[in-house]
Amino acid sequence: MSTLEIRDLTASVAGKQILHGIDMTVASGEVHAVMGPNGAGKSTLSAVLMGRPGFEVLGGTVTLDGEDVLAMPAWRRAVAGLHLVMQYPTEVPGVMLDDMLGEALTTRGRDADGLSGTLLAEAERIGLAEPLLHRALNVDLSGGEKKRNETLQLAVLRPKFAILDELDSGLDIDALRACSRRVEDLSNEAGDAPLGVIAITHYSRLLEELRPDRVHILVKGRIVESGGPELADVLERDGYAAFASPDELTPERDDAGPREQPGSLDDLFAI
Ligand code: ADP
Ligand code: MG
Repeated sequence: MSTLEIRDLTASVAGKQILHGIDMTVASGEVHAVMGPNGAGKSTLSAVLMGRPGFEVLGGTVTLDGEDVLAMPAWRRAVAGLHLVMQYPTEVPGVMLDDMLGEALTTRGRDADGLSGTLLAEAERIGLAEPLLHRALNVDLSGGEKKRNETLQLAVLRPKFAILDELDSGLDIDALRACSRRVEDLSNEAGDAPLGVIAITHYSRLLEELRPDRVHILVKGRIVESGGPELADVLERDGYAAFASPDELTPERDDAGPREQPGSLDDLFAI
């Protein structure tokens, strides 16, 4: 059983404070949804948790089983068991998915011998065409294929915690169902450490298959409400209006999407 603990986390990007004291504790097997309007700081939270360059932690702590995550370079966080599925998966020309996963398992001190069998089984389970396993990472894949591909990586690497930044963006309904169901199954697996999940989204449709234990509503860098799965139903019915004033729902800039699309190679390999 593992625990990811975020305490009073504050952070800025480009000199502007975005996160204003985030508290969240996620245990193995739990699914926590973080829901919020555009510009609320959802992607900033995932970037800070993973140590993406350019995001400055101002205060607070993040620990994984008591270990100081914020002191670790990004690659160590991944090896320690944190895995980010990016909103816009990075294309990595020249790096094949199967090679990359083999390396990643080895780096984690795990056996890569059965990898090709696991890959085939997972590709079938998630509905990813087999030839895509031997293609360069995310290059020339459709939105749905990219997210199936990212979910497959999660299933092969078996991190302790997954942070899904809008797994539902750019997905058709079939791919959404396949991906969210796979993540849900990983969170329900028997054993002492099923996957813990932070599922960032602004639509509740992701949560039809991926059932949250807790729902947190993030507005302007603050969690303004936390509750059980019923909170997602309230949002679906009433929108964010019940939790935020109209000006809080109007981002200063539009969705931060284009800035993080595509994630650069520098980000991927940053230490
Ligand atoms: P969300 O994912 O909830 O839509 P983001 O975390 O992407 O929100 O953005 C939160 C705020 O931080 C927005 O005001 C956005 O403009 C700003 N921001 C995010 N990334 C950057 C960046 N790299 N440079 C400058 N501002 C940024
Ligand atoms: Mg975002």
